[in-house]
Amino acid sequence: MHGDRREALLARVPLLAKWSGRMIQIKTAQELELMRASGLVTAGALAAVKAAVRPGVTTGELDAIAADHIRSRGAVSNFLGYHGFTGTICASINDEVVHGIPDPGRTLAEGDNISIDCGAVLQGWHSDSAVTVTVGEPSPEDAALLEVTERSMWAGLARAVAGGRLTDISAAVEESIRAHAHPYGIVDNYGGHGIGTEMHQDPHILNYGRAGRGPKLVPGLALAIEPMVTVGDPSTVELDDGWTVVTKDGSRAAHFEHTVAITPEGPWVLTAEDGGVAGLAPFGVTARS
Ligand code: MG
Ligand code: MG
Repeated sequence: MHGDRREALLARVPLLAKWSGRMIQIKTAQELELMRASGLVTAGALAAVKAAVRPGVTTGELDAIAADHIRSRGAVSNFLGYHGFTGTICASINDEVVHGIPDPGRTLAEGDNISIDCGAVLQGWHSDSAVTVTVGEPSPEDAALLEVTERSMWAGLARAVAGGRLTDISAAVEESIRAHAHPYGIVDNYGGHGIGTEMHQDPHILNYGRAGRGPKLVPGLALAIEPMVTVGDPSTVELDDGWTVVTKDGSRAAHFEHTVAITPEGPWVLTAEDGGVAGLAPFGVTARS
């Protein structure tokens, strides 16, 4: 932000930290109820922003919609002020992968893809979710990119079950993306994370890898699962604004994210209105709702 490279680098540290057996926060059933309340605030904010996406709207206006929603629910944004970030949402357009800064001078046009990332803190508990949408009618290529990315997120969420290992999620995300004939890129280093009383906690969750490794998945673990997929090469570079991550080759990217809790009754997708019931059903997984 404002060319402050050190702050920007610090902001990336939680995203880049690999799981290392450091402290993983396990939540009680009661704490997960509080996280669910936070998750529904974030879900509502994203729904309100999505509904406002149209040609001519600015990303600054979308940011204000999210801010109003979060405030109206008695919550606060966990993005605003995060290492100096000036937005309530991240608004990343086309070749921008993540961390785009909302801008009152940036107008959406028909055919743009916009990734909206948003989070809230309610009674001290964080939630984090992202969605990519096309402004107007998507091209077949864009429709496929969004569908592949979203499905890979659900494939990962479907593995958020007690008894598994962390990289079961990573492997499921990767397998889902690799199942397509087009050689989509999977952005490396960036990935999901534990979440609870802070937005970014251990463990870091890569969107690729071999199953059966890493920390055991146990009830009370809450994770943000967030694949970032590119049409072309997955290499990225950070812009001079110190935040915006773009593809090096200029190809388009998509980003989907949900916060999920592992419960004895199955995955509980805290940032999905229905708890993940519809998204997990194709995987034969019953969500706690
Ligand atoms: Mg996010
Ligand atoms: Mg996240």
